[in-house]
Amino acid sequence: MSQNDAGDEAIETDVVVVGGGLAGITTALGLAQRGVDVTLVERQPRLGGRAQSWEDPTTGDPVHIGPHIFLSEYPNMLKLLDMLGTKDRIVWQDDHFLTLADGERAIVTEQWPLPAPLHFMPTFILDDRANFAEKLSNFPVTLYAMLMQEEDVLRLDGMNAYAFLRRMGVSRRFIEDFWSFTCMAIMNVPIEVCSAGALMRFYKRFIGHSEFSFGFPDGGLGDLFAPQAAQMLQEGGHRVLLETSVVEFTGAGEQVTGVLLDDGRRITAKKTIAALPPQTLRQMVRQEWVDEHRVFADLVHFHPCPYVSSFIWFDRKLTDLKMWARVHCPNDLNCDFYDLSNIHRGWEERPSVITSNIIYCKRAAGMSDEEIIEATVAEIAEFLPRASMDGVEHWVVNRIPMAIHCPFPGTERKRPPVHTPIENLWIAGDWTRTGLPSSMESACMSGWMVADEVLESMGKNQPSLAVEHAGVEGVTGLFDRTSNLMPGRNIRRLFKGVRRRLSEERVS
Ligand SMILES: Cc1cc2nc3c(=O)[nH]c(=O)nc-3n(C[C@H](O)[C@H](O)[C@H](O)COP(=O)(O)OP(=O)(O)OC[C@H]3O[C@@H](n4cnc5c(N)ncnc54)[C@H](O)[C@@H]3O)c2cc1C
Repeated sequence: MSQNDAGDEAIETDVVVVGGGLAGITTALGLAQRGVDVTLVERQPRLGGRAQSWEDPTTGDPVHIGPHIFLSEYPNMLKLLDMLGTKDRIVWQDDHFLTLADGERAIVTEQWPLPAPLHFMPTFILDDRANFAEKLSNFPVTLYAMLMQEEDVLRLDGMNAYAFLRRMGVSRRFIEDFWSFTCMAIMNVPIEVCSAGALMRFYKRFIGHSEFSFGFPDGGLGDLFAPQAAQMLQEGGHRVLLETSVVEFTGAGEQVTGVLLDDGRRITAKKTIAALPPQTLRQMVRQEWVDEHRVFADLVHFHPCPYVSSFIWFDRKLTDLKMWARVHCPNDLNCDFYDLSNIHRGWEERPSVITSNIIYCKRAAGMSDEEIIEATVAEIAEFLPRASMDGVEHWVVNRIPMAIHCPFPGTERKRPPVHTPIENLWIAGDWTRTGLPSSMESACMSGWMVADEVLESMGKNQPSLAVEHAGVEGVTGLFDRTSNLMPGRNIRRLFKGVRRRLSEERVS
């Protein structure tokens, strides 16, 4: 699919968007929809970036870069799919919330029809891995999360999540059983090196919504948005340049006038959006910007979190589950598993195709692809004993240098806004300051946010494209509002006191 129709001529455009991942696609579509002429430049042969997919040459089946899940709480991503007419190509988890595999035992997590956070309470009480005292030890941190506000997130950002939880009195066992898994699965780093602020911000949302569902792409992940986005842009007269790299921003001093491409062409643009990961952007910014502006100097602090994702075609059906995860153990390889034969529509009769993620995969660095597959099949077999290497018909291993940036302590405060101090230059991407964990939702939200700001700078004031996330609900919502808005001076002081006591006296 070559969409490089620009010939050898220099290109003039209103806005050039560098990077055709979800953030760049969302930005480009948002602007195009509001009548701005857009040129989208992507160095790879297809759009999608870290959410791309392609056809496996051996089986003809779609494979993603690695399995991804959508959340029902992804309004900005769902808005993009809605625009492209593919929202119904998400297959939602319709029964329970999450199955945890503990050897052959399945620990099933359910959400109950109770106000948040009580919707997890029956599962929490019934979970026999921790005793009552250990479960109770999580109460203060839950109370803290219900009361905390964004300023608390930033205050906690300097501290590692393990130290924070221990100082809040959470038992070691409860941290091992619940928090270490959550941290690895959601924040993608071990708890000892995760920002306490980032983790607690996620926890507040987790205990603040009572109807979370997981969704999976029906087919290749990129097939839900990449070809449709390219088509929509091109049909609107915009340009999509694939297999084209931007090598530098043009213009002098603190002003950007467009970009220089690797084939020597120039794109002159009124506005330039860098929808790039932080490490790539770092290579492109001018040294004087790094010297002058914190936002560029800080780019070195965003470290990539590497993944290894496997796809294994078995000769038999192994389960009827769509998804499960292993209980956390630091020496395990894989975290989450998906059987595509139970996800993709029309694949119900097929044997299992199991895909999984090794998150923060440094422990797999010295392993060959064959060793990774053998170890992955062994982990699958602990839960599904009928799995064995004899039943493997085909496999694929994807080594991914960066799935997201590592939310190490200190990084939340360094996540930049989408505008920059450089004239006519904006940035977009999952790592910008969206208030969300780095994810597809964060990338899309960032893309809509940039489009909003660029439109405003062009005098096109229109309803916001970015969708604000719904506030927390239920009892969590009540605590949140109380902590923020309580009119009674004494009660406000009391809640502030609790917050301060929890965050400062016990933490520092
Ligand atoms: C295996 C895996 C599993 C994941 N699981 C989940 C999940 O379950 N749920 C979830 O929400 N998120 C998940 N993520 C994260 C999610 O994929 C990312 O957060 C999101 O795709 C990032 O989008 P982006 O547009 O910000 O960045 P990118 O996708 O990185 O886009 C940047 C683009 O810029 C291009 N580019 C780079 N340099 C240049 C240049 N010089 N010129 C032109 N183009 C350039 C790149 O090729 C790329 O296409 C996962 C990621 C991976 C890899």
